[in-house]
Amino acid sequence: MFQVQILGTSSAIPTVSRFPSSQVVTINDRHHLIDCGEGTQMQLLRYKVRLSRLDAIFISHLHGDHILGLPGLLNTLSLYERSNPLKLFAPSALKGVLDTIFSQTHSYLCYELEFIPTEDFQPGEVAYARKNFEVKILPLEHRVFCRGFHFQEVNKKPKFNFYKAKSLGIPNNYFSLLKQGNSITLENGLMVKPEEVHFEPDPPLSFAYCSDTRYSEELIEYIRYTRLLYHEATFLHELKSRAEETCHSTALEAGKIASQAEVRQLILGHYSARYRDLTPLLKEARSVFPQTALAKEGHVFKLKDFL
Ligand SMILES: [Zn+2]
Ligand SMILES: [Zn+2]
Repeated sequence: MFQVQILGTSSAIPTVSRFPSSQVVTINDRHHLIDCGEGTQMQLLRYKVRLSRLDAIFISHLHGDHILGLPGLLNTLSLYERSNPLKLFAPSALKGVLDTIFSQTHSYLCYELEFIPTEDFQPGEVAYARKNFEVKILPLEHRVFCRGFHFQEVNKKPKFNFYKAKSLGIPNNYFSLLKQGNSITLENGLMVKPEEVHFEPDPPLSFAYCSDTRYSEELIEYIRYTRLLYHEATFLHELKSRAEETCHSTALEAGKIASQAEVRQLILGHYSARYRDLTPLLKEARSVFPQTALAKEGHVFKLKDFL
């Protein structure tokens, strides 16, 4: 299982239907939160995301619309008597912000918050490695230090082809050896290599989170062939000058990045509150990259759906 659930899609100013930035990446029933704008806790409750399965939080940058929900969420985890350590990847200055809030509000976390500064990693470097996936740091260009995150499956094992094994006349008691990657020799002298009875492994699934950032072609090499790309599209291209001033991207630019990086699917988000109807943003991005969808609160994107 590898999916992304959108919790918030607004830029700095929320609207009645759009929350500030946050999303949950779920891999094999473990949750990873990216950004934590105000209201993220309520969105996690609304969409029944089990906090006991939250392993790590990734914060792109220290603008309020990406972090103001974090102290409350961390505090709630403590009230739930969390005991497992929690990893927090974020720009280093966040530690002081949290320490001040917790000390001044007499709050105490009953679990270990393992703070990992994102400045410690070069773009493209692995920050978080698990058995089946890893998270690399992406270079983003914003008004303040900002990093994106690239989740990718690793060590993907090919699936055993039961029917092929049966058709070769291999008795069932050899299957576990073959599944473990061993060659076998049957009683009739026939040798079978494991690759003969396994399907070709599927290409690894991957998801890139790129918000907030101005249009940056430097990003392309880091996200080439990514299965699912979330790229901010704060403005329509008619407001390109406003996008430049604020170090954000237009929908057209998000489409251009997706096209040049040859990703499978693009989702847009981080919409300016001035857009009630998001269709023009979608149309604009689709004019250069047809495989584009709008991120909306609650939507779940399953990566295996984008072949
Ligand atoms: Zn933002
Ligand atoms: Zn920002």
